[in-house]
Amino acid sequence: MPSRYRPLAIYSALLALAAGAWLMRGLGGAGDFPAPWIAVAWIVVCLLIWQFGIPVPRVGLTSMERVPQIGLLLVFSAPVAAALCGAAAFLWPLLSRSYSHGSRRAAVLRAVHNGAMDTLMLLAAGSAYLAVGGRHPIGVPGLVDIVPLAAMALVAQAVNVALLATYFRLDGRDVGRIIKPVYSLVDLVFVPAGVLAAVLYNTAAPATFVLFVALMVVFVLSFNGIGSALAAVDADSSPLARLSRAWRALRGARRLDDLGDRILAETRALFRFDEFLLVLVDRERRQLDLRVHERGGERLAPQTRPLDSGLLGRVAARGDALLVEDWARAPEVLRAQADAGEAGSLIVVALQEEGRVIGLLSVRHGRPGAYSDADLHLMERLAEQVAPAIADARAFEDLERYRRLLELRVAERTDELARANRDKERLIAALDERSRTFERESQEDPLTGIANRRAFGRRLASEIEMSRAAARPLTLAVADLDHFKLVNDALGHAVGDEVLRQSAAVMRNMCRATDLVARIGGEEFAILFPGMDHGQAAAFCEQLRRAVEQHGWRGLHPQLQVTLSIGVAQWDQESGADELLHAADTRLYNAKHAGRNRVVAA
Ligand code: GH3
Ligand code: MG
Ligand code: MG
Repeated sequence: MPSRYRPLAIYSALLALAAGAWLMRGLGGAGDFPAPWIAVAWIVVCLLIWQFGIPVPRVGLTSMERVPQIGLLLVFSAPVAAALCGAAAFLWPLLSRSYSHGSRRAAVLRAVHNGAMDTLMLLAAGSAYLAVGGRHPIGVPGLVDIVPLAAMALVAQAVNVALLATYFRLDGRDVGRIIKPVYSLVDLVFVPAGVLAAVLYNTAAPATFVLFVALMVVFVLSFNGIGSALAAVDADSSPLARLSRAWRALRGARRLDDLGDRILAETRALFRFDEFLLVLVDRERRQLDLRVHERGGERLAPQTRPLDSGLLGRVAARGDALLVEDWARAPEVLRAQADAGEAGSLIVVALQEEGRVIGLLSVRHGRPGAYSDADLHLMERLAEQVAPAIADARAFEDLERYRRLLELRVAERTDELARANRDKERLIAALDERSRTFERESQEDPLTGIANRRAFGRRLASEIEMSRAAARPLTLAVADLDHFKLVNDALGHAVGDEVLRQSAAVMRNMCRATDLVARIGGEEFAILFPGMDHGQAAAFCEQLRRAVEQHGWRGLHPQLQVTLSIGVAQWDQESGADELLHAADTRLYNAKHAGRNRVVAA
C-alpha cells in the first residue's frame, strides 16, 4: 500500500470500528427493521441522489443527500437509519466510476470511510434529536419540533464536516479549499425537504409521498438543467474565460502593430468604451507613444506626447492604476491633469515589465459610472497579459532593427572591401607593368632597342655555363663603327644616333633568334653566337660587315658611308667571360689596325 494511503486507511478503519461498535449496540435495541424491499428502496434513493442530486463542489457529495438522511432519521430509529444510510454510503464509491478516478484502492478506502462517516453522522444526529426531546416518529410538525430538528441538522453537519476535514487533512489536501462554510449552508437548505419527506411518509397517504418524490425529481432535473446551461454560458463569457481567450490571442503576435490590433480587439471583447488607447513609454526619447488610438469607433493616427504630460503621464510615472468612475465627482488633483471637457468614466492601467512601466492601457466611456472596481480589476488582469506580449514584441522589433542594421553594415563593408580589392588589383597590375618596364629598361639600350651592356654581361655568363654543360661551341664577336666620330662631327649627333639605330637593326635582323646582339659601348656592339665555332661565326660576321657597308646610308645623307670592324673569338671551353671579351677586343683592335672595315677571327 503506498504510504500516502496508510494514514487514511488507519483513520478509516478506526472510524469503521467506532461506527460498527456503536451501530451494533444500537441495532440490538431497535425493533423497527423495515421490509427488505423498503430498505433497498431507501438505499437506491440515496444512490440516485448522489448520482443526480445537486452537486456542491465538495468531492463526490451532493447537498441533497440531507434529504434521505434526515428523512430516514425521522422515519426509522437512528440505528436503522444509520445502517441503511451507511450501507448506501459504503456502496456509492464502489459503484461510481468518477468518484475515485478509477483507482480501486481509493474506491475501497472511500467506501469504508464514507460508510463509517454516514453511520456515525446519523447515529450522532439521531441521538441529539432524541436528547433534546425530538418526537419519534414525527407526525405533523409543530413549533416544538424546531429545536430538536435544528439540533439534529447541526449535529449531522458538524460530524460530517469534522470527519471530512480530518480525512482531507490526512490526505495532505488543502481543507480550506475543499470545505467552505457556504457549503454547509447549502447542505442545511435541504434539511426541511428531508423533514417534509419523513412527515409525508409517516402521516400522509402513499400517493402524497409519491407526489412529493415526483416533485423532488422534477426539481432536481430542472435545477440541473439550469445549472448546466449557466455553466455553459459561464464557461464562454465569464471575464476569466474571456481573459484566457485574450491571453491565447496575444500569444504569437510578434510585430507591435499586429499586437496592437489584437489588444484592441481583446479589450473590446472585455469592455465597452468610447475611446481606447494603447500607449508605449519611450524613455529614450522621453515621450508617450500613442500607438493604438480609437475614438468613437474611429482609428486615429499614432502620435506622441511628452512623457510627463497629463493623466497618462501621471500613471506612467507612478505605475499605479487609475479609475475615475465619474469625472463630475473626481478629485481636483485629477481634474487639474485631465484634458478639458473630460466627462464620464475612465480607466488607465500601467503595463509593467520587470518593475518598469513600459506602456499604458486606457478605456474611456462617456457615461458616468460606466466602470467600477470590478472593471479596473479586470483591466489590470488584462494588462498583466498584455505587458509581457508588448515586451516580447518590442524585444523582437529591436532585434529585427539590429539585424537590419547589421546586414546594412555588412553590405557596406563588403562593398568597401570589393572596391579596395579592385583598387589593389589595379595597383598590382600597374606595379607589374612598371616593374616589367624597369626590367626591360634595365636590359635594353634605349637608343637602339637592343640588349644593353648589362644584359649582355648576364647572357654571356649564362651562355658560357650552358655551353660548358652541353660541351658545345660558343663564339663572340665585337663590332665597332669605323670613324664614327667623323660622322658625328660632319653630319651632326642626330644623324650619328640614326646610324647607330640602323646599324643595330641590320645586325639584329640578320642574326638568329638564339643569337644576342647588344650595344656594349658608344658605337660598339657585341654579338653572341651560341653553338657556332669561330669559322662559322667569322663567315657570318663577314655577311654582317657587308650588309652594313651596303646599307642604304645615302637615304640618310648623300655623303654618308658607314663601315664596321669586327673581332671574332671562340670560347675555349675553359676561360671566363672577361677573357673571351678581351680576346674578341684584341681582334677588333687588330682589325682597326689592319685598315678597318674587316673581320678578324684569328
Ligand atoms: P675608330 O674607327 O678608331 O673607332 O674611330 P672612331 O671615331 O669611331 O672612334 P672614337 O672612339 O674616337 O670615337 C667614338 C665616337 O662615338 C665618339 C662619340 O662622339 C661617338 N659616340 C659615342 N656614343 C654616341 C652616341 O650615342 N651618339 C652619337 N651620335 N655619337 C656617339
Ligand atoms: Mg669607332
Ligand atoms: Mg669605339
